[in-house]
Amino acid sequence: MYYIDPHIHMVSRTTDDYETLAKMGCVVVSEPAFWAGYDRGSVDGFRDYFEQLTTFESRRAQSYGIRHYTWLCINAKEAENVSLSREVIAMIPEFLDRPGVLGIGEIGLNKNTKNEATVFLEHLDLAAKTDEQILIHTPHLEDKYQGTRMILDMLNDDRRIDPTRTLVDHVEEHTVRHVLDSGFWAGMTLYPVSKCTPARAADIVEMCGPERLLVNSAGDWGPSKPTAVPDFILEMRRRGHSESLIRRVVYENPLQFFQQSRGFDFEPPEASGATAATAI
Ligand SMILES: [Zn+2]
Repeated sequence: MYYIDPHIHMVSRTTDDYETLAKMGCVVVSEPAFWAGYDRGSVDGFRDYFEQLTTFESRRAQSYGIRHYTWLCINAKEAENVSLSREVIAMIPEFLDRPGVLGIGEIGLNKNTKNEATVFLEHLDLAAKTDEQILIHTPHLEDKYQGTRMILDMLNDDRRIDPTRTLVDHVEEHTVRHVLDSGFWAGMTLYPVSKCTPARAADIVEMCGPERLLVNSAGDWGPSKPTAVPDFILEMRRRGHSESLIRRVVYENPLQFFQQSRGFDFEPPEASGATAATAI
């Protein structure tokens, strides 16, 4: 089955990972900008990072037959430095028309602070003014419920934001309905140390249905598993779910969401005459 990983940080992964993903049926990855593991010191650090995301990383993916797309922002972990955040937000438009850029992300909250909220709102303003799609990170564990409510309030307060072009990521059992009921797309992240497991994500699909639900690995430089989406496919098959339901969540939904971006030019393999692979 072909699938898409809508949230994975491939700059932190090896070329062996690309090869494994390709063998498992991954045809598209989307990579939001994120924290490097240390705070960058200047706007030029971000300019270099965006250069890597929009040039070298997409070439590296292409050599394994995977299309690479990206999202740009300054991460919430670095938002305490509001003046640097503003410099980065002012610089982002230099990159928005590059091939493979899908929008602004992953913006959001980390510890739900006032500065994080300020920088989040300024990213929303940029996305609204430039008509970009939005990908949102919600906080971890004990901060998730309150942070998700704060994020949804800020989104709902801005009438320029189109929920059908906005993805709220890292949802769990206690936040998914709030996100879907407000009309947004919701992403479930399969992560070994926090967030969802494949079994919990399958439970959520069974509880909420597949509409506007995506599943991703959020693979990065920490403990994470870039092949987590195939794990979810296996879990769904074990439970006896139909191939069409599984395919909707891991392929058709992300395709439908991404197709709303100007920068998304992926041609589905079926349309080019290839037969659907059954790699797993
Ligand atoms: Zn991420």
